Amino acid sequence: MNVAIIGSGFSGTGLAIQLKRSGEESFVVLERENTLGGTWRDNHYPGAACDVQSHLYSYSFKPKPDWSRVYARQPEILQYLRDCATSEGIVEHMRFDSEVLEAAWIEESNEWLISTTNGDYAARVLVSASGHLSDPKYPDIAGIEDFAGAKFHSARWDHDTALDGKRVGVIGTGASAIQIVPEVAKVAGNLTVFQRSAPYVVPRLDREYTAGERNMFARLPHTAQKLRRDLFWASEARFPQRRGIESFISRVERLALDHLANQIADPVLRAKLTPDYAVGCKRVLISNQYFPTFLRENVELETRGIDHITENAVVMADGTRHELDVLIVSTGFEASDLPIARRIRGRDGLLLADHWADGEQAYACSTVNGFPNLFIMNGPNSGLGAGSIIFVIESQIDYILGALDYLGRNGYTRIEVRQEAETEFAAMLDRKAQGTVWLDGGCKSWYVDQRNGRLSVIWPDFMSRFRDSNGVFRPEAYEVRALAGSAV
Ligand code: NAP
Repeated sequence: MNVAIIGSGFSGTGLAIQLKRSGEESFVVLERENTLGGTWRDNHYPGAACDVQSHLYSYSFKPKPDWSRVYARQPEILQYLRDCATSEGIVEHMRFDSEVLEAAWIEESNEWLISTTNGDYAARVLVSASGHLSDPKYPDIAGIEDFAGAKFHSARWDHDTALDGKRVGVIGTGASAIQIVPEVAKVAGNLTVFQRSAPYVVPRLDREYTAGERNMFARLPHTAQKLRRDLFWASEARFPQRRGIESFISRVERLALDHLANQIADPVLRAKLTPDYAVGCKRVLISNQYFPTFLRENVELETRGIDHITENAVVMADGTRHELDVLIVSTGFEASDLPIARRIRGRDGLLLADHWADGEQAYACSTVNGFPNLFIMNGPNSGLGAGSIIFVIESQIDYILGALDYLGRNGYTRIEVRQEAETEFAAMLDRKAQGTVWLDGGCKSWYVDQRNGRLSVIWPDFMSRFRDSNGVFRPEAYEVRALAGSAV
């Protein structure tokens, strides 16, 4: 086997499509669930939708002229991904119910041995495409395990739990929670939202595309391409704000605070919903429904800080008790300490998680010294604070295809990034991260690794620079070899 890919989300499926189009047939996509789709398969909570416009949040190489609306909802995105995999003949390469238990580099044969819950594989190249948003993060709150009512994470929504008339609590006010809260409020008897920090929220300029527009995108593909380009550059134009440039910051801050003021007249409630850090330090959210939800009689915003949880209540720091039937934790994902790293053993049996014990880094956001023939998609510094992750994914696909082409053309069987190249790259990113709103904005976010204070999840530059820097394979940074006896 030439390539084994872990994960069938946008990264794994996209790479599989482009591999196959390049003529490669010897590859598998290992998927722990019984169907493809990654985070868009797992996040089926009420109200789930994308906060990047559909025409940008889709593969450039698989355009979809008939997106139903500006910001597609989860079912349409998942169907798109399934259609892409089916039409390109990728599903045959997918191995479902095959959770990777361990992948170990074998020096003698220059290959990865991968054991899964459904069989073992040997592959020349291993690609981790499991991403930042695959493993739910549960809050470390005393007593949470004692809660006896229904309890689930937003990324593992339990549709069998009826919420009608129930006393429901939602912990978290991130991108997922602000989509969930308005939907739950419509059916719950009472809803308590436990907020640790208030998010910045700006208007969501969403609407359905008209039949005329969809027709135009289908018949005149250049119009859809132009829209995509316009959306891309509008996204890029937001980056100077993340760099901490004052005039850009104040413009977005004004937009968000005006949105709040327009929707919430009560100064006390408005103060509770006003963030106390610089805009952009955490993800800027988009919603027209979130703030007005707190005007409903059955909804309460709780900001006093959770002390502990009992079998039937969430208890605040001042002793206030909120008795609940259902507790929904919308507390994000294991993004800065990737769980897959505990299952990948490189040269000398070193576990990637141990190698990264002080924090994650990778050359070109893809490769790690000590881990030959391993490529990581959506790993260190390849998240975005603004923009479309699909652009990052496509850049990484190009990088990997470039590396595979280089290996194939030269008959090499082993490639490993030099430590100096990796170290220099990380230092360059650290320099770029200085002065950004992610580090200096006065918030605590999952973009920053708490172990070392580095901005290790986010790419600290324009998206276009991600492609320039990490979308073209450059062999100079690597040591390459061929196995004795193999053709060079
Ligand atoms: P998140 O952004 O990490 O938000 C987690 C929330 O839980 C935060 O409000 C956090 O508070 C709170 N929290 C965490 N631990 C807590 C604790 N112990 N006690 C109280 N509150 C706690 O997670 P997410 O909302 O699932 O979003 C994750 C990412 O998924 C997003 O940034 C985005 O990239 C992606 N996403 C995208 C979309 C989309 O439309 N494309 C939708 C949903 C998610 P603090 O803020 O105080 O830490």
